Amino acid sequence: MPERAVPDETTALRAEVVNWMRAHLVGDFAPLRHRGHAGDGDALPELRKRWERELASGGWTCVGWPREHGGRGLSITEQVAFQEEYARAGGPGRMGHIGEGLIGPTLIAYGTESQKARFLPRILGGEDFWCQGYSEPGAGSDLAALRTRATRDPATGDWLVSGQKIWTSLAHVSDWIFALARCEEGSVGRKGLIFLMLPLRQPGVTIHPIRQMGGGEEFNSVFFDNARASAEDVVGEPGEGWSIAMALLGFERGVSTLGQQMVFAEELQLIIDIARENGAAHAPVIRQRIARAWIGLRALRFSALRVLGADGSAPLGREALGYKYQWSNWHRDLGRLAMDVLGGDANIISDDPRRARLQQLFLFSRADTIYGGTNEIQLNIIAEQGLGMPREPRGSLT
Ligand SMILES: Cc1cc2nc3c(=O)[nH]c(=O)nc-3n(C[C@H](O)[C@H](O)[C@H](O)COP(=O)(O)OP(=O)(O)OC[C@H]3O[C@@H](n4cnc5c(N)ncnc54)[C@H](O)[C@@H]3O)c2cc1C
Repeated sequence: MPERAVPDETTALRAEVVNWMRAHLVGDFAPLRHRGHAGDGDALPELRKRWERELASGGWTCVGWPREHGGRGLSITEQVAFQEEYARAGGPGRMGHIGEGLIGPTLIAYGTESQKARFLPRILGGEDFWCQGYSEPGAGSDLAALRTRATRDPATGDWLVSGQKIWTSLAHVSDWIFALARCEEGSVGRKGLIFLMLPLRQPGVTIHPIRQMGGGEEFNSVFFDNARASAEDVVGEPGEGWSIAMALLGFERGVSTLGQQMVFAEELQLIIDIARENGAAHAPVIRQRIARAWIGLRALRFSALRVLGADGSAPLGREALGYKYQWSNWHRDLGRLAMDVLGGDANIISDDPRRARLQQLFLFSRADTIYGGTNEIQLNIIAEQGLGMPREPRGSLT
């Protein structure tokens, strides 16, 4: 296990989390232990929603939000401690993470007082679940090419939205979607966009699950056919949606990555255990790859702590740009290592939960270098923003 960041400051908090998890992740909630993480994101959704409400009852949702908005106002170091102990206790993947980590902080920064009053308490309480409607067919890496349209209903002032979003994680179990749409006729690229919040349960919205190669159905296509967004549910000014959408992405590199690394550590430990059992640990190349993976995980931890400034240093500048590339490629390589350690067994579906977990790890980790910005896009960002290289040609539209 990775060592702790600053034990002295967080010892009491860590003990509080450990005790609370020990008392609450039991009984009806026991099946949730270690469930719902990457590749298993559609597991037990209703029970995980109940778990969110259980967390809320203990004050363990939105722990980094300011106290005035119902959070605990924890420092970055304390949030890291919470995430690590939560994951170490087997806490399930958080159904509320998009509300808590993305739209909530965006509303705190840019929302109207009435939006904060309506939406934040329901995110905090585990009552509303959110999904992110950015990508479209033909608009993923090049998000500004999106074509979903929003037009004003002259009778009510509401916005009527038509178009298609794709790869929308958890839409099938969410209540609300925040979406980027084109609201100015004839506009192109980043101009003329609007950032809207829409309830998903309404006649103009159809959700089709997309089956992933691991068998899960964590993401979806979302079709809008004159779906309605209230005029009050626009964040920022109509036409200025791009800046809100980008600000929201800035909240994405959160402290939850430290909890994610605890899950990575468990996966690596499972690979080590199986390598010992099936003899793969005797193969020199496998041993070296395992050792390299361990070093890589330690490096990831220190990178994450530095990026967040949780190790006492000031948050990094351009070095932070490399973190997504670093963790996603490390994890994708871990998936390959898992398959090589399993050897021929990797190809056989069985009831052995440990083998199934590694197979899922391999299959799902292929997506790590796609979502949140593909490898190629990350490298472009590092080259252009970090190293001052010339921008790649982007055509006349963006
Ligand atoms: C598991 C998962 C969950 C997701 N969840 C969501 C979600 O909840 N909401 C949401 O809105 N989206 C979500 N996405 C979508 C994700 O954001 C997109 O898949 C991603 O932005 C890439 O877009 P694309 O799939 O359209 O690929 P494309 O952009 O079409 O890219 C195809 C290939 O071309 C390369 N490429 C593209 N442009 C360039 C360039 N300029 N230079 C060099 N190479 C380039 C890419 O790197 C890639 O290899 C999810 C994706 C995955 C895999």
